Amino acid sequence: MLIKINNLNKSYYSDSKSITRALENINLDFSNSGLNFIVGESGSGKSTLLNIIGGIDNYDSGSVVVAGHSLSDLNSNELDYYRNSIIGFVFQEYNLLTEFSVRDNVKLALDINSIANEEKIDDILLKLGIKEIENNSVNDISSGQKQRVAIARALIKEPSILIADEPTGALDLKTSLEIIEIFKEISKEKLVIIITHDLDIASKYGDRIIELKDGSIIKDIEKRVSKKEKIETLSSNLIKVNQINDETVNKINEIKEEFDQKVYIVTSDNERKTKALFPNANFDSKKEGFITKNNINKEKMKQINLTKSKLKINRLLKLSLSNLLNKRVILILTFILMTLSLLLYGVSEGLANYNKVDAYISTVDKENLKTINLVQKNNDIYENIREEDYLYLKENYQNINIAKEYNLPMKIYFNKPINNYKKYSLYGISEATDVNEYGYKVIYGKSLINNYDEIIISEYFANLIIKGEYFSDINKIENIIYKKIKLDNNEYKVVGIIESSYLASYKNDDEKITNYGEIRDNLIYVKEGFYNNYLSKVDYVEYYLDSYLKDSDSAYDSNNTSISNIMFDDFDKIENYTINYYNRDKTSLLDNEILVSESYIENNHLCINTCNSDSFKNSEFVLSYDSKLLYASNDYKVVGTFSYDGSNDELDNLYTNGLILSSSLKEKIIKRIYTNYELLIGLSDNYKDNGRFINNAYDLGFSINKNFTSKYNEYTEIVTSISDTLNTISIVLLFVSIFLLYSFIQNSILISKRKIGILKSMGIDDLNVYCIFLIETLLVAISVSLASSLMILLTTPVINLFITKSYGFYFSALNIKPIVFIKICIVTIIISIMALIIPFIKFKKISTAKLIGSR
Ligand code: ADP
Ligand code: MG
Repeated sequence: MLIKINNLNKSYYSDSKSITRALENINLDFSNSGLNFIVGESGSGKSTLLNIIGGIDNYDSGSVVVAGHSLSDLNSNELDYYRNSIIGFVFQEYNLLTEFSVRDNVKLALDINSIANEEKIDDILLKLGIKEIENNSVNDISSGQKQRVAIARALIKEPSILIADEPTGALDLKTSLEIIEIFKEISKEKLVIIITHDLDIASKYGDRIIELKDGSIIKDIEKRVSKKEKIETLSSNLIKVNQINDETVNKINEIKEEFDQKVYIVTSDNERKTKALFPNANFDSKKEGFITKNNINKEKMKQINLTKSKLKINRLLKLSLSNLLNKRVILILTFILMTLSLLLYGVSEGLANYNKVDAYISTVDKENLKTINLVQKNNDIYENIREEDYLYLKENYQNINIAKEYNLPMKIYFNKPINNYKKYSLYGISEATDVNEYGYKVIYGKSLINNYDEIIISEYFANLIIKGEYFSDINKIENIIYKKIKLDNNEYKVVGIIESSYLASYKNDDEKITNYGEIRDNLIYVKEGFYNNYLSKVDYVEYYLDSYLKDSDSAYDSNNTSISNIMFDDFDKIENYTINYYNRDKTSLLDNEILVSESYIENNHLCINTCNSDSFKNSEFVLSYDSKLLYASNDYKVVGTFSYDGSNDELDNLYTNGLILSSSLKEKIIKRIYTNYELLIGLSDNYKDNGRFINNAYDLGFSINKNFTSKYNEYTEIVTSISDTLNTISIVLLFVSIFLLYSFIQNSILISKRKIGILKSMGIDDLNVYCIFLIETLLVAISVSLASSLMILLTTPVINLFITKSYGFYFSALNIKPIVFIKICIVTIIISIMALIIPFIKFKKISTAKLIGSR
């Protein structure tokens, strides 16, 4: 005996709380072989019974024992293994995996047991007559062929029980008969249970016909002998023998054999006659029949061990891939949408976390800049470089050269006016010592400055010297080398000339000098320590404030209307001057008091009425200027005027545009005016060192003073101003892609619901089924992450190149950090797993029968 069913009950509870009693008190046994038909009206419970036997549906009460396993005692995994080891399913709708070929459908049944046996597949395909079409897609074959494939798939695992729910329901008569013949053949060795509507077929081929009505067995007819019905099997071990003769004895013995000698015989013949024929049988008065001697104990059931199904990873992959390719359109759509929204997410995330300093570093790197300038600014006002910061950088970055640059204007007087002016003022000094270390190219002379009286000048400045005919006998810049030039009152020997790169873009000399040089062209390069040495000799201050009051080109404008010179009231050169304090008792200046030149007031029409000596005395003029320009924090009060009546041109100019301040402020003001305002940085060849250095410098409050930084600042301002919006967009986009992926997977699983049922009916366990979908989702998640990361990696340089082209220097508009890619990956993977788990938890509660039934 293979199946023993006792008092089986099963009801369905539909939503409207109505109960359908699908099976009521079913008692059935099935022997080890034979072709059994289940017949009955539609809705009589046939499928329910078969599904319960097949382990794809559960039951309410009673017991179903198959091959030694009580099905209600098996857990969900064991049920999968039960189907794998014992049951072969054939469905009316074939339930083949449409994306596979004929052969692969059959092969899968072996695969789930990690068996590779191509010969066995060949044999079964031959036996079922479908060898010629083995490579066809199962979509391209006839219904009969499909059912043969389904049978081959069920048989290849050599199940002990083959169950088929209306296998010929969709076939024409001829094909039906062919299929039934196959089942008949199989039933010689295996137990075959078939549901059919076709009573003709059932009665012609069936060894036994069980009829159900409203969930109960109303008929159970076993035919062993001819139509004479001498022997009638009431149930599998209860045989009714009408007449005992030689023929029936043989039959009975055959049946006894089959049922392991456990047979009840009911006969109308007398006891004596029966006993003569079955000497070992015991007469059982209650059953009115005979029990063979061996059958006093319980009937023996055939035992079959359950084997675990296990798919190999390559088969899992193949199933996942075919799953994916099965829904190409939605896959491609999801893929594109997700990739795009992740791309936008990456870009907006990149912008939202835009780091200016990193962008600078990449420009420095990509432009291969050898030199940059660092300044310390507070609210856009340049400050003196803090000595400790300078020392810190110098100490910590040995392979980066750092020189101080000072605001130390120096005048030179040419013999021939340039742009109408003989006087030319340089901006300051750079204590570079060896200009080679800062990436400057020495075109004449040497790069190293040995003494405080040696300087290196720019090609631009050298051109001015020639044009201004400073030397009457020199007309080539290379001949300036080792000549002395006078700046203010000191003489310096020019030991080198560095290239002014921008000059190359001007065609002729005139253009070169009418266009002002860059800051670096208006500096002189000196030995380290020059500044301190120089300052010890300064006795008055002349400072061009023009650059702060107007654009820097006003340095050429001798008619400028701003105060450009500062003197102190102990200035020993002040002679032939008169001071008029408004308060006649006053004799000296306090720290917040100033004297203003009368000619300045007059020249600029600052008097309220006409300017005369009285109006000066009565303070009838207005002087306003921004005191910050003097780098002092307090406002200054004009307490008087002064005038010059000497004949020295130089001093006249000094007085005309001058102020007099209290000498007690001298040191403070000098320090504030002659500022160490920049550091000249000679970068190393190492990108990482440079990056660390620049980052560190920004931490210390430095900023790079290069033209590219101002473009970046504009850009950063824009980015910062829309940063909140971008953040919102990026979060929204992230959610959009999460939603897309989620719905894709949900959809994919819904589509695959039936397929999950089919796979499970074949005996694949939940873990393996889950793996198929997990791999599928991970494939999508990973490829989407990769694609969007790749898109980001590809678009970033394009965007940067676009802006770089318009700006003329490498511009890092987008610099997306690896963390964004990691985020994208992690997010998509988590989402996919989530999207997978939720439907699977739901599916676990649904019976396999229902999964298969779903469309
Ligand atoms: P048959 O296969 O003989 O046509 P079934 O076994 O499919 O009958 O169904 C038996 C009874 O149970 C029918 O009344 C049917 O409507 C009901 N039934 C079957 N499956 C379900 C289900 N999943 N939910 C509710 N009722 C069901
Ligand atoms: Mg049915």
